Amino acid sequence: VRPEAVEIVEKKVPDVTYDDVGGLKQEIEKVREMIELPLRHPEIFDRLGIDPPRGVLLHGAPGTGKTLLAKAVANESGSNFVAINGPEVMSKYVGEAEKKIRDLFKEAEENAPTVIFIDEIDAIAPKREEVTGEVERRVVAQILALMDGLKERGKVIVIGATNRPDALDQALRRPGRFDREIELRVPDRDGRSEILQIHTRGMPLEDDVDMEEIADITHGFVGADLAALSRESAMNALRRILPELDLEEQTIPQKVLEKLFVTNNDFMD
Ligand code: ATP
Repeated sequence: VRPEAVEIVEKKVPDVTYDDVGGLKQEIEKVREMIELPLRHPEIFDRLGIDPPRGVLLHGAPGTGKTLLAKAVANESGSNFVAINGPEVMSKYVGEAEKKIRDLFKEAEENAPTVIFIDEIDAIAPKREEVTGEVERRVVAQILALMDGLKERGKVIVIGATNRPDALDQALRRPGRFDREIELRVPDRDGRSEILQIHTRGMPLEDDVDMEEIADITHGFVGADLAALSRESAMNALRRILPELDLEEQTIPQKVLEKLFVTNNDFMD
């Protein structure tokens, strides 16, 4: 086991699709145009004589689906996905953060098309006034240099995610860097309903489940909250029939499994 290889760098084609992302229709449209199109067809940008975007900033409250959307666009454009987490790279690899990031970019170019995802990028690149150490300054400078130096035009795109776009170093947002932004809003009622549909699509729902009612009363819930709510409801259903289950048995009989339904009340508890 080489923990340093698995802990901060996730490299694969994720199996998330746009269908797994709820309530973000307009955002998905933007992502397709700004990220998927150049990854799939850099020749269009060549023809137009313009540079495809190198960096796109996703911002929005925690749990609104920034990571999910980044994975979806990587998958839907047939790209690899490499991810690092800002705070982790800064804390665990003191003195090594620059090397980690350099390696990541190198790997991304070698495996292009690639989406590089930097979660909580504000931890790496806070505003200069907020910058406490020399390390951050060097790491920011390095990310910028690496982005400027991306050879595979359009084939490597860096997605930065943050809850605090105002706390970001302005140098990151100049042309040729993170010069596009997409805001992920907190879902409205219809968005919540869509997200609930996604997270309950594999569940045995009782006929009395009223998703619209649940969407009505979950004002302020983001995607991550709705995912948790759905999971909790399924667990409530399980707890209800737990006394009837004989857990010592090799396998639970189909007959008993078929009694498992998630009811409207399970969502309300
Ligand atoms: P953070 O800022 O905390 O990193 P994030 O914006 O990156 O959060 P995600 O990690 O993408 O949020 O979301 C966490 C989980 O919540 C997802 O794996 C998914 O299950 C669910 N989720 C969040 N947003 C959505 C959405 N729009 N549609 C469907 N599921 C969602």
